[in-house]
Amino acid sequence: MITKNGIAVSPGIAVGDALVIGTEDFRIPQRFIPRRIVDQELERLHQALENVSAEILENERLANEAIGLQYGAIFAAHLQMAQDPKLISEVELLIRDRCYSPEFASSRTLRKYARQFQALGNAYFAERAADIYDLEKRILRHLLGEQRESLAELTQPVIVVAHNLTPSETAGLKKDVVLGFVTEVGGRTSHTAILAAALEIPAIVGIGPFIADISGGDTVVVDGTSGEFIIDPDDDTLLRINEVRQKYKSVSDRRSQMRDLVSETRDGQRIFLMGNIEFPQEAEQCEQKGADGIGLYRTEFLYLGRDTIPTEEDHYNAYREVIEGFPNQPITIRTLDLGADKIPGWIRRQYSDDSNPALGLRSIRMSLHDMDMFKTQLRAVLRASVGAQVGIMFPLVSSLLEFRQARLIVREVMEDLEELNIPFNADIALGIMVEVPATVLMAKEFAREVDFFSIGTNDLIQYTLAADRSDPQVAKWHNAADPSIIRMIAMVIEAAKNENIPVSVCGQMSSDPKCVPLLIGMGIRQISVSPHAIPEIKEVIRHLTLEKAEAMAKYVKSQELARDIESYLNRELRKLVPDNSQ
Ligand code: PEP
Ligand code: MG
Repeated sequence: MITKNGIAVSPGIAVGDALVIGTEDFRIPQRFIPRRIVDQELERLHQALENVSAEILENERLANEAIGLQYGAIFAAHLQMAQDPKLISEVELLIRDRCYSPEFASSRTLRKYARQFQALGNAYFAERAADIYDLEKRILRHLLGEQRESLAELTQPVIVVAHNLTPSETAGLKKDVVLGFVTEVGGRTSHTAILAAALEIPAIVGIGPFIADISGGDTVVVDGTSGEFIIDPDDDTLLRINEVRQKYKSVSDRRSQMRDLVSETRDGQRIFLMGNIEFPQEAEQCEQKGADGIGLYRTEFLYLGRDTIPTEEDHYNAYREVIEGFPNQPITIRTLDLGADKIPGWIRRQYSDDSNPALGLRSIRMSLHDMDMFKTQLRAVLRASVGAQVGIMFPLVSSLLEFRQARLIVREVMEDLEELNIPFNADIALGIMVEVPATVLMAKEFAREVDFFSIGTNDLIQYTLAADRSDPQVAKWHNAADPSIIRMIAMVIEAAKNENIPVSVCGQMSSDPKCVPLLIGMGIRQISVSPHAIPEIKEVIRHLTLEKAEAMAKYVKSQELARDIESYLNRELRKLVPDNSQ
């Protein structure tokens, strides 16, 4: 049994067979075989090894012909391994004695050697480990033949284990077969993480290197609430996991009783608690969890997980689904935030290969660059918003001119609709995400022109502290408790107050229970959180008094170090809601 810890990003516990996604995705369908077919299975192993050897020889011949003898020699080492009697007898033993399937036995044995090479820690041995993984893949390919399943065609429930998953790949995961997933990389606010929570798939990211420790078909446990990941759990651990599951359930039952209670502090300060969504069907879930509306609809997910451009009707239908899923409540639709990691391959190919995409042509920049795409979306939002409380929000706005251009386009689209006699919502509010430091510095000027602000702490932190939101190696810098971030939020609140416009926080900071009292104490009256966090955050708000929140904000503002602020907020949260575990 091996236990690892990573960043918990989507709550819940899943136990199941691992599907290890490498450069090639395959899964081992069964770990054990009935004893009576052992001889048959040994025969299948030998046949596969023969085919592997033939394949390696053929590759060697091709390489010799094409690029010269010295390169073809690389394959000799592969061949030697594939025919190594010691290695083969180890695999045979696992099949004969333990009734392992040939797939599982080969994977187990080869990975054991690969790990030993890796542990030797120099470049030469790391390459030998890579050779062994390569051989493992070849053997599995021959053993599994037509049985290989791709991620998109999975039929059996699995836990997906990968170095990384892009938001597009994550969007394509089927919830009924993917019980959970874990990745070596990724950060708390990465879009893959946000998406996992939207799909309600228990997930952990940023575990660090572990794939060498696992074979497809191994039993694994994913605790997406605590961040614990267990490979090959023993019986005691499985019992413990069951108890943890019960505990999570009782906390969640307690919280769900607050569904119909108003989101307000103990001394009666109303706090509007909204949901962040990526898919239209989540609007209804937010309503059921007791939210006050949708504070952020990330519409770019209409583009992810598909390979054609959504039509105006696709946009319109999605927006109507959101509005009807959560009727009579405010809904903020954000225009496309495409770019950086949130971009399907077929769009990326149209643009130059920017080496630093988070600073490249993304979000409102891309919308203003591709006017057809932008206008199509705006037409659909304006049409869908008739009779509803909808606001349009532009992402990543970094200059006043950019906002003015976007507003101008909205007006042009309104004129077009008017000419065609198509009904639309002419009073629609136009706001911006505040997520670029330049915009914070210019918040006073922005506040005179926009209808509302929504602070996007995920990007604001990454751009202020120069810490990639998806990179676990810099996760400690990507910290909402950094005094620079708190000072920036205070500047935005101040600017909004002076011009009397609403300001909310929709980055993951507002889904973090320890940060909520601070935000309220600083003057925030609307937050927008991941749907799964709605009950937990409502509980925190209902335990709080405004007086306490303001005292906390005053103390925090006097602090100089993120570390001190973070531990203070954690301590206060424990006092406020003693049993805060999910
Ligand atoms: C943010 O940056 O905080 C935000 C809410 O937007 P996204 O996570 O979609 O970039
Ligand atoms: Mg953002």
